[in-house]
Amino acid sequence: MLTARAYSAPSATEPLVPSTIERRDVGAHDVLIEIKFAGICHSDIHTVRGDWGTVPYPLTVGHEIAGIVTEVGPDVSRYAVGDRVGVGCMVNSCRECDNCRAGQEQYCLNGNTGTYASRDLDGTVTQGGYSSHIVVNEDFVLRIPGSIDFAASAPLLCAGITTYSPLRHWNAGPGKKVAIVGMGGLGHMAVKFAHAMGAHVTVLSQTLSKEEDGKRLGADEYFATSDPDTFKQLQNRFDLIVNTVSAVIDINAYLKLLALDGTLVSVGAPGEPLPVAVFSLFGNRRSFAGSGIGSIGETQEMLDYCAEQGIACDIELIGADYINQAWERVLASDVRYRFVIDTATLPAV
Ligand SMILES: [Zn+2]
Ligand SMILES: [Zn+2]
Repeated sequence: MLTARAYSAPSATEPLVPSTIERRDVGAHDVLIEIKFAGICHSDIHTVRGDWGTVPYPLTVGHEIAGIVTEVGPDVSRYAVGDRVGVGCMVNSCRECDNCRAGQEQYCLNGNTGTYASRDLDGTVTQGGYSSHIVVNEDFVLRIPGSIDFAASAPLLCAGITTYSPLRHWNAGPGKKVAIVGMGGLGHMAVKFAHAMGAHVTVLSQTLSKEEDGKRLGADEYFATSDPDTFKQLQNRFDLIVNTVSAVIDINAYLKLLALDGTLVSVGAPGEPLPVAVFSLFGNRRSFAGSGIGSIGETQEMLDYCAEQGIACDIELIGADYINQAWERVLASDVRYRFVIDTATLPAV
């Protein structure tokens, strides 16, 4: 067993504190990764604070992991010591159900093994990326191309794939009008991807405070949702709306912005239900959908696409002693656009 430095939550209500966690011995198909950078995702906060149900404490979160391979098991074929690799939101799945066999292990019918707060095969609770090392089965490890800034690559493993996957699935591209709701960690990546794919991109954000950024990242148009005129002006406009907001919004008002056969897909995950009036779906034969991260195969495709297109996240790099403040700023939507922890700053306990 290896003892890793970490920053962990002692409970739902206390600040995170420096700690140590145990990592399992490197198995035949395992890769030991020295974590260099870990992104801070809104899900980390929801999970620790119990918004999505009870979790075991102490808990180390973090599922946007970028690091270097420092050891491989004897049967590992795809990675070698020194490789730049990433780990996202899941570290295993059953590999036998219909969805796993279809290469959609994020939708494993037996539940994929989350990078943190999940029950691992050996019965222990998985612990995430706010730590110095992690041991992961090679099938759930991604290769991070050398041309992507390493720190800025970490959030691609969640914010990146979570937005890339629905944009690909619903065919964002030339001739398509795509709206992105929210200009946070997920939203700013959605804008970059939708623009790179060739769609006409509109940002729907609460205010116009990030309009300049939005247009720099590739938005063609930018509207404030606090202005009721926005919803009148944009009715029946979009082929695809990607909702990245993880708070309850008036989903019916947004559904009315969809054109014929348009789809509104939610990737933000509020703890409360979003009430949909079915009448909002009748007009224009609209669809309301959800999408969760992406498969390992698609995540690798996304990383390669980022290298090819010169895409990475806009980040604020922080030290471990700033994590609690960073969480408060995430909750206040005060980050441009993702906090990334430099794990070299994790203190020895
Ligand atoms: Zn996440
Ligand atoms: Zn499965």
